[in-house]
Amino acid sequence: MEDISALKALLSTPKHIVVTVHHRPDGDALGSGLGLAALLRKQQHQVQVIAPSAYPDFLGWLPGAPDVIVFEKKNQQKASDFLKKADVIFCVDFPTLCRLNGMEAMVRETTATKVVIDHHPNEGEFAALAFRDTTSAATAELLYEIFEGLGVQDLIDKDIAECLYVGIMTDTGSFKHATTTAKTHRIAARLIDHGADITKATHWVCRNNSLNKLAFLGFALSHRFVVLKEYNTAYFFITAEDYKNYALETGDTEGLVDYALSVRNIAFAATIKEKKDCISLSLRSSGEVPVNLWAKEHFGGGGHKNAAGGISQLTLAETVAKFEDLVKINKKTLTN
Ligand code: 5GP
Ligand code: MN
Repeated sequence: MEDISALKALLSTPKHIVVTVHHRPDGDALGSGLGLAALLRKQQHQVQVIAPSAYPDFLGWLPGAPDVIVFEKKNQQKASDFLKKADVIFCVDFPTLCRLNGMEAMVRETTATKVVIDHHPNEGEFAALAFRDTTSAATAELLYEIFEGLGVQDLIDKDIAECLYVGIMTDTGSFKHATTTAKTHRIAARLIDHGADITKATHWVCRNNSLNKLAFLGFALSHRFVVLKEYNTAYFFITAEDYKNYALETGDTEGLVDYALSVRNIAFAATIKEKKDCISLSLRSSGEVPVNLWAKEHFGGGGHKNAAGGISQLTLAETVAKFEDLVKINKKTLTN
């Protein structure tokens, strides 16, 4: 937090600010981005949140979500106008500008002061001010500490508290993942003190499945689930046809990979999805299996030790074969 006084100075006069989050924003990216934007507005800054692509439906209730500019949805010009005007661009919940996908060049080219707030491993500095902490369970947890560092925690109202709480709740899998610490719980408790309605958050995030999503889950468990027992590995593969048959939307496959990891003795789990222009992979592990390193080395991606993602330009069948090869090569790590 050595940059906190520099951040304080930067924000000491009203600025034009853009808050960006990563491609396919999750609860932590969107919650942190919206919470930050709302707090900055209270300090008289002009703030716009821009996401490279759509957020899942179950996050649409977050205060401020309807005002987010979704770049991919024919909003390139609008986004460009805000970015050109910006004095400051916050990069929230992602370690490298690549994670902005189609928006990357536009952000890279601006002269705005870039500030990164993130809990992923650093992949090379691009920001003038960096707040990175891989020990934070969520970017929202780190953001709370930054608010404290700036001495603005009293500006956290119910809406901001709920945004940050959802960030922590989703990135920790409701406080279950190994990243969850006593500090995570302490900060969550402070957010409840600030007014976060946790029943509401649970309702929207955990009890908001469409019947279609559950029907798809049943199908995937029955027909798209492979267990490699001797490698302590299990994975789902989802075809383009499945996306069509079940009219799957953003977020409908989220959480699927956790069913694979929930199986007894499974240490490595994946969902391998056939998207329009590539194959996308979600990787999860328990214990010491470093899926972020595997994602980086084999699938041009990254993430955390126990949760990472990447892509493949091979066919689905070829990607599955490559994945199984990766499993076989790493048998020792997986079965220790
Ligand atoms: P998910 O599987 O939920 O999409 O992503 C899990 C984790 O991996 C998240 O922390 C996310 O930021 C990271 N991640 C997912 N896809 C990519 C990717 O293509 N590149 C990088 N660097 N990280 C990714
Ligand atoms: Mn996160």
